[in-house]
Amino acid sequence: MNKYTIDQFRKDYPNNDACLDKLFKLRYTNLVCPKCDNDKPFTRVKDRMSYQCPCCGFQLYPMQGTIFQKSTTPLTHWFYAIYLQTTTRNGVAAKELERQLSVSYPTALRMAHQIKRLMANEKIDKLTGVVEIDESYVGMKIANMTKKKRAEYAQSGFTKADNKTGIMGFVSRDGKIKTEVMHGGKSFKERVRNNVSKDAIIVTDSHGGYEGLSIEYFKHEVINHFANEYKRGEWHTNTVEGFWSQLKRTIKGTHIHVSAKYLQLYSDEVGFRYMNRDKQEIMFETILSHVV
Ligand SMILES: [Zn+2]
Repeated sequence: MNKYTIDQFRKDYPNNDACLDKLFKLRYTNLVCPKCDNDKPFTRVKDRMSYQCPCCGFQLYPMQGTIFQKSTTPLTHWFYAIYLQTTTRNGVAAKELERQLSVSYPTALRMAHQIKRLMANEKIDKLTGVVEIDESYVGMKIANMTKKKRAEYAQSGFTKADNKTGIMGFVSRDGKIKTEVMHGGKSFKERVRNNVSKDAIIVTDSHGGYEGLSIEYFKHEVINHFANEYKRGEWHTNTVEGFWSQLKRTIKGTHIHVSAKYLQLYSDEVGFRYMNRDKQEIMFETILSHVV
């Protein structure tokens, strides 16, 4: 495990200037001045959040257009919150951010959501090779919801009889994962086509919704759970099922309740963690790179 220690983190980002420098570097690699075409390095402008061209004085603001721009929270807080998100398996709850950063709960909650969005922002191509596919249902039963939650749910656009929201997952053996929350009435097959390349070997359970995909795909292996079959040679759906456990643990453990519309966001976040689980240092850099 490539571990990014708290000591190293503090050395890298001791103050707001160091954080701003990092953003500048991430955002403007091989910078040529947009105004005078010079490639001399820009220098930090004293007491401002900007850098300027040594030739013409043109200024660039690395925070412009990012989640940091309108925030009054110091960059060091943001960086530390992102760091914390890379150190735990299930993510850091807003309560914990509130405590560790001494910020208000609404601020902590906003930060947690923003960072979640950054993590969920990873674009992944259609999967290839051996791809496990499975569907799952996440959420509370309507009978167990409060009146307020029930009203929210009624407006969320999901049409299942209870608050269990369907989600389909795709995991390739090289460790990539994609998920798609099932709303909008698309068929299982359409969702598979959206996420998996035609040259893949797909592995599913015997759900009727997957029937016929063997014609379109290189190969379709069906594991018959009804006949107590869970593995046949190298074919199984254990990895994607493990991912569902991880997703449900995250939602239950850290966030207590997740509304249907946030399920895709949470799932993308858990997927991002899953794909980066042995690469904590890279994970920190990747999240930052999604800022700019
Ligand atoms: Zn210039």
